[in-house]
Amino acid sequence: MEPEISVAHQRRLFIKAYEAYGGRIPFEHEYTGAIDALARFLAGLGQAHKDSSPGVVDVHWTSVYADIVMSDAVNAFVTELDGVYLIGITDGVVTRVFDQISAMLTDHGLSPDDRNRLNSTLWMFALLFALGHECAHITEGHLARYRTLNGSRCLAEAVDVERLAGTLNSYMEEAEADGVGVVSLAMGLGSVFQDDLEELVRATDVPTAIGLVHAAVGAMVTTLAASTPTALDHRGAYPHPLVRFVFTGQLLRQLLTVVITTAMKVPVTPLDDKRAFVVGIRALHRTEPALMAILDSRIDSVRKQVQELMDATAASVLSWLNRVDLTGLTSRS
Ligand SMILES: [Zn+2]
Repeated sequence: MEPEISVAHQRRLFIKAYEAYGGRIPFEHEYTGAIDALARFLAGLGQAHKDSSPGVVDVHWTSVYADIVMSDAVNAFVTELDGVYLIGITDGVVTRVFDQISAMLTDHGLSPDDRNRLNSTLWMFALLFALGHECAHITEGHLARYRTLNGSRCLAEAVDVERLAGTLNSYMEEAEADGVGVVSLAMGLGSVFQDDLEELVRATDVPTAIGLVHAAVGAMVTTLAASTPTALDHRGAYPHPLVRFVFTGQLLRQLLTVVITTAMKVPVTPLDDKRAFVVGIRALHRTEPALMAILDSRIDSVRKQVQELMDATAASVLSWLNRVDLTGLTSRS
């Protein structure tokens, strides 16, 4: 049994670790507590069945703290200080993703009340994906490797030259983190967020709900990509945002089909799946028309890169899926 580390102490460590990037927002935000709870939920999943996954870092849920970094920059961080893993997402990311999801929701004939509520819901889903992504950098050993290469600095999503030079595996690690982020999101939607998912389905329909969850992930991916520009055929520190969007969508639709049919007892047909894909594309097109124009003209290249990522990340995605029984999530929460 590890000693319980107080939240106040973790918060002080968070401020110390991210002081140079803006520190912590100096007031209680409606979602800061929820973000921290989400990070612990994910870290708990990350450590389950660790014996079956060699190389996975043992993370105890009491040693993860997540919060918002007071900065308008687009960035997210993960580091470790005095035995506590600290995940930070900038206010700039949080607000941009919220606004982007708001713009995506104008198309769906929702009442103003429904739209406001679903805006917050989808925003939380996008944050859950982002936190799952950051947790993967801890549990899959990326942070440890990065720190060995770069001293004690934190791992930041906005790429700096040093990181590009120091970590040639970055491209695949980011894809792996995206895959784990999607699995984490699906786990959350099958358990603690199941009511929110049901409400989303009730307010729209199954394919629209799945498509909008994917679009929320797309909002996070494209927001973060604003600070990491890359061309479609350039294998830089990250896969291209369009490739990340299609890759996460492919995985997410498969997992949500399982969650919706088993946890909600609502069938998802192959036609629903196709419609969900179109809903996701259309929603992102509202906010990222230039990006989606590339999809139109370069679909073969995108498909090829997505398939590469599916193949390369299948083992770690499966390992995460094996840590929790998706079909048994409802009885766990
Ligand atoms: Zn990352």
